Amino acid sequence: MRIRAIFATLVLVVFGSGSLGQHRGGSGPGEKYSPELMATLARLRQSALKDTYAYSRVAHLTDNIGPRLSGSAQAAQAVEYVAEELRKLGLEVQLEKTMVPHWVRGLETGELVEYIGQAPATSQKVVLTALGGSVATPHEGLIADVIVAHDFDQLNVLGRARVAGKIVLFDFPFDNKMAAEGFALQAYGQAVAYRAGGPSAAAKLGAVAALVRSVGNADYRLPHTGALDYAADAPKIPAAAVTAEDADMIAHLTSQGKVRMHLTMTPETLPDAPSYNVIGDLKGTQHPEQIVIVSGHLDSWGLGTGAIDDGAGVAVAMETAQLIRQLGLHPKRTIRVIAWMNEENGGAGSLTYAKDHASEVDNHVGAIESDLGAGHPLGFFLYAGKGAMPLLEPVSQILAKLGAGLMNPSDDPVEADITPIQLGGVPGFGVLQDTRTYFNYHHTAADTLDKIVFAELAENAAAMAVLAYALADMPELLPRPPRRASSEEH
Ligand SMILES: [Zn+2]
Repeated sequence: MRIRAIFATLVLVVFGSGSLGQHRGGSGPGEKYSPELMATLARLRQSALKDTYAYSRVAHLTDNIGPRLSGSAQAAQAVEYVAEELRKLGLEVQLEKTMVPHWVRGLETGELVEYIGQAPATSQKVVLTALGGSVATPHEGLIADVIVAHDFDQLNVLGRARVAGKIVLFDFPFDNKMAAEGFALQAYGQAVAYRAGGPSAAAKLGAVAALVRSVGNADYRLPHTGALDYAADAPKIPAAAVTAEDADMIAHLTSQGKVRMHLTMTPETLPDAPSYNVIGDLKGTQHPEQIVIVSGHLDSWGLGTGAIDDGAGVAVAMETAQLIRQLGLHPKRTIRVIAWMNEENGGAGSLTYAKDHASEVDNHVGAIESDLGAGHPLGFFLYAGKGAMPLLEPVSQILAKLGAGLMNPSDDPVEADITPIQLGGVPGFGVLQDTRTYFNYHHTAADTLDKIVFAELAENAAAMAVLAYALADMPELLPRPPRRASSEEH
């Protein structure tokens, strides 16, 4: 997940958390769904908990294919793999073409070459990684003084006179206490503003490069990448994330006196490349034209292997189809598995889908995405019309047995890839995972398969399958949220 989902989630916590208690569980057991449907949902839940399908798919995506940055050979291989796996399940598979940014990470090194107390002929290494989309430094790198700003206000106080010609480090810390208390997304939302907007804010004051303190609570000197957002009215300057440890060191040394840094980065932005959303339909028996989406995003950053962000989401969505096949079920409405392309640095896949499917968006009865990792699911956050909550009570009842019974309403669309269609009036759901450790690994080299706990992934598979099947078979359709212009998104 990246920046776009943050806003909706902040709104959710501020406005949605008061209703946690009252929406938990249900009144009469299964009174809104038939006893047969309730029994089917319980079977799906139990089967998901023991099935190895999702785990083996995310294992293949991560260990066999590897990192899947948009435009890369691995992303292309992952498209073929998921398409083939969905065909094996008997789904009608289509590849939906979308043009994606093609940014390639290069060399990236940093060292402090001048600072108080320096031993002769030495330097201090700085562990860093380019932010996605960053331009390169000159081939031999650049050398400049470093100036530290805690936040945007402090940057503006420093002003052009002190910033011009320098490397600006935004040293805004990720709030570990918030994360430990279960508010990791909110901590991320606060800090990620500097990764997104910091480079252009510094460039407007004449900075020659920008560094940000890594967003996240990793403390093994791991840099955390992610997209930056160059402003149209600012020069594009090279931008990188330094580890939290290195940010501390630089701040300490600059508090003593002059610090000069040699920064070298050689990323390249190639022409946009063709890629694909993978779409697999399991046709409904009574209303094949009505569609329920289950989804995750197939692309990932390239430092790790994209296990928790978001191979897990794709695998869990595939598992819904696998379980329905395995149990010989025949949902009334169509269940559509989507592996989205380019969530991390552009959102091209989700925009292409909303455009290509504009004429059938009214027939999308619900869309689910998992993009907050593979931790224990607590339930869902959702964006739907008034009156949706009572219709979801039976789902909560089934999932409460896993500790995943929360239905947390949001005033804004949830999850990045399904946001464009929610703005078109489709009810949207995001899996609400335990995120206390998510940002230890997210967008770092440590986002690898071992971070996925089999039992927790299986719980996620259960949650998605139960909700999807309920949406595909429930007697009444969910009330739809109002259509909104995409400009209202922020
Ligand atoms: Zn993601």
